[in-house]
Amino acid sequence: MSDQTNGTAPKDPGVSNELMIELKGVNKWYGDFHVLKDINLKVYKGERIVVCGPSGSGKSTMIRCINHLEEHQKGDIIVSGTPLTNDLKNIEAIRKEVGMCFQHFNLFPHLTVLENCCLAPIWVRKMSRSEAEAVAMKYLERVQIAEQALKYPGQLSGGQQQRVAIARSLCMSPQIMLFDEPTSALDPEMVKEVLDTMVELAEDGMTMICVTHEMGFAKTVANRVIFMDAGQVIEENEPHEFFENPQSERTKLFLSQIL
Ligand code: ADP
Ligand code: MG
Repeated sequence: MSDQTNGTAPKDPGVSNELMIELKGVNKWYGDFHVLKDINLKVYKGERIVVCGPSGSGKSTMIRCINHLEEHQKGDIIVSGTPLTNDLKNIEAIRKEVGMCFQHFNLFPHLTVLENCCLAPIWVRKMSRSEAEAVAMKYLERVQIAEQALKYPGQLSGGQQQRVAIARSLCMSPQIMLFDEPTSALDPEMVKEVLDTMVELAEDGMTMICVTHEMGFAKTVANRVIFMDAGQVIEENEPHEFFENPQSERTKLFLSQIL
């Protein structure tokens, strides 16, 4: 079964009908390997979407295509009204709107927490250093890590580093945040502090796509859960229905393995 579904704006008080991301018939190959097969997805402002599915199903590839960290070969991706083409102007415009957090934080190890956060605002947003530092401190406070501003990433725990990575993204004032398994590399006792930060972001109305296996997060924060397998969106639903009443055999199998 491969019932490709098409998101329509769900009835959720935090979700507007402003379309933020649209994927239309998106296909991607790595050489001969067909990694994304006709992906259709609409994401509205304020949505919190959790993407789950077996390892290798194309989750990372799909969200990396949204800010052109990977290039798709067929179909259309439109972010905040801007079509993602090879035009550098469009790619830059989209990257300004889309923040991304990865499993392995990707902080610059030779820069302090504060410097990590100031880099893009200074070089991309053309802020003055003092302005960028003020913005950085605001977001470091928001993720409750301001007191670590002058430390280097290696002096922080994994959970702290991930919160810095989130703050660093927020310094660019993105409209959309993409998370790719942000808690998978963390020791269990640090997962909660990162999830709490993500919950706060969601409560503030951030449009988010989160690849995660944290099903507690999916149940309480997501307004929509998307299940991918073998490069396709197999099923999507609001969380209660998704977990209580999965439709496809592949979704049932996946849920039986992780819950
Ligand atoms: P997921 O995030 O769901 O685990 P990925 O999007 O990382 O899946 O990968 C999907 C498939 O594409 C996997 O089979 C993976 O091995 C393959 N793949 C990922 N990146 C590359 C690459 N750069 N070159 C070739 N194959 C890749
Ligand atoms: Mg992945």
